[in-house]
Amino acid sequence: MDLHLPTLLTVCVAAVATSAGVMTLYGSTQRTYRGFGWWLLAQWLLALGCVLHLFRDTQPELLPLANLLLLQWPIAVLAGMRHFCSRHPSPVPALLDWLLLALAFLVWLATWAADGSLSERVAAFAGGACVLHVYTAVFVWRMAEARSSAAMRLLVGVDLAAAAVQAVRFAVAVSGPDGGVPGNALLLASGLVIVVSSLVMVYLALMLTNERSESNLRAMHRKLRYLADIDMLTRVPNRRRFHELADQALAAAARPPCALMMFDIDHFKHINDLLGHATGDEALRQVARCVRDSLRTQDVAGRLGGDEFAVLLPETSVHDAMTVASRIVARLSDRQVAPTLAPVSLSFGVVQLQPGETIAEALRRADQALYEAKRQGRSRAVTAFGEESRPVFGESRSLGLPGF
Ligand code: GH3
Ligand code: MG
Repeated sequence: MDLHLPTLLTVCVAAVATSAGVMTLYGSTQRTYRGFGWWLLAQWLLALGCVLHLFRDTQPELLPLANLLLLQWPIAVLAGMRHFCSRHPSPVPALLDWLLLALAFLVWLATWAADGSLSERVAAFAGGACVLHVYTAVFVWRMAEARSSAAMRLLVGVDLAAAAVQAVRFAVAVSGPDGGVPGNALLLASGLVIVVSSLVMVYLALMLTNERSESNLRAMHRKLRYLADIDMLTRVPNRRRFHELADQALAAAARPPCALMMFDIDHFKHINDLLGHATGDEALRQVARCVRDSLRTQDVAGRLGGDEFAVLLPETSVHDAMTVASRIVARLSDRQVAPTLAPVSLSFGVVQLQPGETIAEALRRADQALYEAKRQGRSRAVTAFGEESRPVFGESRSLGLPGF
């Protein structure tokens, strides 16, 4: 059966124009990213190329433009990919893509202008198209993003399929029987490749856009979560997050005892008043850093607000917690060699969590112990036992001379 070329081209035009139309609609109603415009352009130009091919017999002067519009597709799609993945730019200059396209087109044009035979012209076109598709496939395959994107790997597959069809056309054209003019089956395959490529492009553009939106959303979510959880000045968890983490750590603790300490900077108002708010901020940052450096991974620290911090030490006795307090203070005094910062001292309230006691309840008892440490002259750690309504204060360990 003879292949009716205008029918095949009309099917191609319908498929490619529909794909381009869907993409245009999508692009005008949804958020898209850099590169989408190139994909849209590639599709519309391909559709136009198919339309011009419909007039190849009546207006042969349109043939060069028609073929150029068919050849541009892989390179325009690649231009879109380059823009879409511009965070990881390729060392291969974009100019090379367009030079290759120009070269492929000029080879065909020279054959056409020299009145080459049909098989020579088919070979020139198919050879050029094959090179462009292989080039695009290899380029996209080597892009960092392709490793995680199924849509990009699909594009590689489509390009390789198109390259294979064109390679067969080329081979038949240069060596086949009947003067080397490829038959209907190959023409049909070429048309099919155009239809499939344009459909895959729609899927690709939509998938990549969705993937990018989703990953942006995830990154935004992570950032918001961080902003909601972390105290920006000291980079330790804020009060709300401390409670969450401490609850989790408490539940995960293999065995009692667990110690909780609450501490704050002595006479911090004076630091602010005498040395300025910026120095006060720096003191808070240094305290937080010393705390972080003094803890194990399973310990949880947080800034409760102002100059007040809390630390939960799972599987730690009150006595060992006092040692941790001393360690924090020792680190702090090491750091205070900085000429801008006057000595900063801390007062601690330390308690042991009772069976069934919540973090909030233990914090209230630790606050009583901290208050007692302040009352006893500051720069010390005091332990508290017993009920919140009738606290009994135990060991009181001096942590050096009070600052300010
Ligand atoms: P005490 O020894 O009894 O703790 O005395 P204090 O002066 O430290 O008193 P308090 O703990 O009540 O003072 C907390 C001060 O911390 C009051 C507030 O101006 C200051 N402050 C709270 N948040 C910040 C902050 O983010 N940066 C700075 N620089 N100062 C803060
Ligand atoms: Mg204070």
